Amino acid sequence: MSQTRQLPETDRVADPVKEAGRRRTFAVISHPDAGKSTLTEALALHAKVISEAGAVHGKAGRRGVVSDWLSMERSRGISITSAALQFEYREHVINLLDTPGHADFSEDTYRVLSAVDCAVMLLDSAKGLEPQTVKLFDVCRHRGIPVITFVNKWDRPGREALELCDELRDRIGLRPMPLTWPVGIAGDFRGVLDRRDGEFVGFERTSGGATIAPEHHMSADEAVERVGDEWQRAAEESELLTESGDDMDPDAFARAEASPVLFGSAVQNFGVRHLLDVLLEHAPAPSARPDERGEPRQLDEPFSAFVFKVQTGMDPAHRDRVAFARVCSGEFERGIVATHADTQRSFSTKYAQQMFGQQRDTVERAYPGDVIGLVNASALGVGDTLHTGKPAVRFPGMPQFTPEHFAVARTTDPGRSKQFRRGLEQLVQEGVIQLLHSETRGEGAPVLAAVGPMQFDVVNQRMESEFRSPLKLEQLPYTVVRLVGDPGQRSMLHTHSSEVLDRADGTTLAVFTDDISMRSLQRLKPELDLRHVVADTE
Ligand code: GDP
Repeated sequence: MSQTRQLPETDRVADPVKEAGRRRTFAVISHPDAGKSTLTEALALHAKVISEAGAVHGKAGRRGVVSDWLSMERSRGISITSAALQFEYREHVINLLDTPGHADFSEDTYRVLSAVDCAVMLLDSAKGLEPQTVKLFDVCRHRGIPVITFVNKWDRPGREALELCDELRDRIGLRPMPLTWPVGIAGDFRGVLDRRDGEFVGFERTSGGATIAPEHHMSADEAVERVGDEWQRAAEESELLTESGDDMDPDAFARAEASPVLFGSAVQNFGVRHLLDVLLEHAPAPSARPDERGEPRQLDEPFSAFVFKVQTGMDPAHRDRVAFARVCSGEFERGIVATHADTQRSFSTKYAQQMFGQQRDTVERAYPGDVIGLVNASALGVGDTLHTGKPAVRFPGMPQFTPEHFAVARTTDPGRSKQFRRGLEQLVQEGVIQLLHSETRGEGAPVLAAVGPMQFDVVNQRMESEFRSPLKLEQLPYTVVRLVGDPGQRSMLHTHSSEVLDRADGTTLAVFTDDISMRSLQRLKPELDLRHVVADTE
């Protein structure tokens, strides 16, 4: 599907600072099954992008615009690719960046988080904080990204609201600031007390949540009449929260120390409007972004953007390659010629698109906070900067993550070694996999390194179907990784249980089969300078 978006006349001569001010760019972080796809649908439904929930993510049994481009995704029912959904809400422009659900692709999710100004942490009311939620929250904290918490699935039995709030405080040190408070326990959900105005917002089940749930606003007196005891209990708990200092503190939220908390049900579309309103009222708008020297690129400087995701094979009809870039300053106008900061080459933006699922709209203009999909972007890699005009700018590169899985790659067809090399290079540039060089194994046997083992499956499949260069992967038994502080010591690190691998960024890694073999080598050679690979999410 392809069409040209007709922007309203008023948008045609826009001021980037004003446009940035009405934008909110965020991503949802959650553990698989917490309801991210459902919430995305519900948000889009509220924004009237789609008329009925179910049209954005096509999971099994649901119809719609599937965001699974690779057949592997389809067969496994997981979403690997990332894109952005843009919609208008109350005179604002919301950019929701999609993140992959599977833990093996967490590296992709981390990169998406470098392109947002805020995150919504989605919890399953019965499960609370789950491992991947915590992992992703840590990245948000590290990057200073403010987090809004949405406790989902309140329409079915779950844990106590106070207990969930305590968990945020005790386990991840995030102070909860509930803006709404549930009336009725999880499973017997009557609605929420809106702590901002003291009103009761009654909840009514709709069949399958296919339309926006009707909200019934009532005063406290009416609420007592309607739901009696449950209302009293919610009101008392809300008082307790105020007494313990858990009311909204916008500064603490901006510093990412405290999180506004909302309760709802994505599948029933309840609480979703609150979430949109909180995004508008409290989430930060795009602001000046520091370049690689730490100098802020002001919003009103000429156009600049950085690539946070590269994707190929999104359109089965064409073998295309799309680079997703977040606009950081100025106005993007389709057709402008930008400079690729790394090579100083010109890059034509004639084919800029916005994408979500298989829907593509041609983007005519974009402003700070927006995501543009640049088609035919063979020159662009993850972390690259594009800009126009002077001064030139380069944003910091993308963080590389500590790989945890290693495999040697060999082509099964020596006649296609050129395609083998080229294919791997492209996958590395897209950020699908890391490529390490081993002096002892040589050029023909590069070592691939991944954060999650499923990345190897993607490499296998794409090398075969896209580059027609099938390969054989031999998994290596390493589980412990250290940075080699002194490359002069590399010869000491070649043993039967360890080896040395070089990364393209110039760093040298030592990999060990296990902790015990690393420690015994260190005991044998105390002069070895081995360091933890820590600053990866810097
Ligand atoms: P994702 O893996 O995080 O994208 O999760 P999905 O959106 O696919 O949701 C996982 C399951 O939870 C699906 O069966 C949803 O229908 C269900 N679900 C999502 N939100 C809610 C909710 O608010 N209430 C209930 N009862 N089920 C929900």
